[in-house]
Amino acid sequence: MFNIQPIGYVQSCYQEKFGIPRQPNLVSEAKARIVLLDTFSLESVRGLDEFSHIWIIFRFHMTAAQGWHPTVRPPRLGGNQRVGVFATRSTFRPNALGLSVVRLVSMVEHNRQVCLDLQGADLLDGTPILDIKPYLPYVEAIPDAQAGYAQQAPCEVLQVRFSKSASVQCQQKSTQWQVNMELLIRQILQQDPRPAYRTTLKDSRAYGMRLYDFDLHWRYDADGIEVLDLSPKSSLPQTKH
Ligand code: SAM
Repeated sequence: MFNIQPIGYVQSCYQEKFGIPRQPNLVSEAKARIVLLDTFSLESVRGLDEFSHIWIIFRFHMTAAQGWHPTVRPPRLGGNQRVGVFATRSTFRPNALGLSVVRLVSMVEHNRQVCLDLQGADLLDGTPILDIKPYLPYVEAIPDAQAGYAQQAPCEVLQVRFSKSASVQCQQKSTQWQVNMELLIRQILQQDPRPAYRTTLKDSRAYGMRLYDFDLHWRYDADGIEVLDLSPKSSLPQTKH
């Protein structure tokens, strides 16, 4: 009935779905770039740089083929209570559309393509972008809004420590990728990316996720999380989750 084409694609530090924060702005150190198709010139974003934040409408392209269910178990309810799909921000939804508000850091033209640099995005590398709109606080920031089971930010954050070798590797990767890698990893892991049902278990196995060009490994213990290492990416995506 409709034919919607992407206007651009995301380049993101997040190379796989696991570990990406469940909403934007929880990991402020996460950098991403929207590269618009070359049919969209600088004219199409004229004036946008006067807005600190933008709405992004995108496709959950990695999960779209898996369809959807009328009810969902949100992690915020411990993963064991069901609510309607439209009462959640689940990726598994009709039309597989996502919506995130993110900080717009800068706009540049690179190889004749307009690039929007973002901070705090919750987007997988390669995500197709369908539309962009400026965020309007005078109508969209609603201080007395009710938010059901998600009224507050997730309050429990885990302590994250780094092994000696992981600290050294973070320094190298910070220089390579021009990001504070230790801060980025700390912000990601303190949200506890595990599925909700695992967070109450005594969990001794190692976990991994892919960021930039490396695989990050960590484990849980009584004090929180220990980052074990950042290793060159293996040929297969991480599977220990
Ligand atoms: N803020 C958006 C929203 O409310 O529509 C996304 C919320 S959704 C719960 C966030 C999760 O989407 C992330 O944790 C990540 O695992 C997943 N995700 C991000 N980009 C994706 C993509 N292109 N395809 C499938 N899943 C994606």
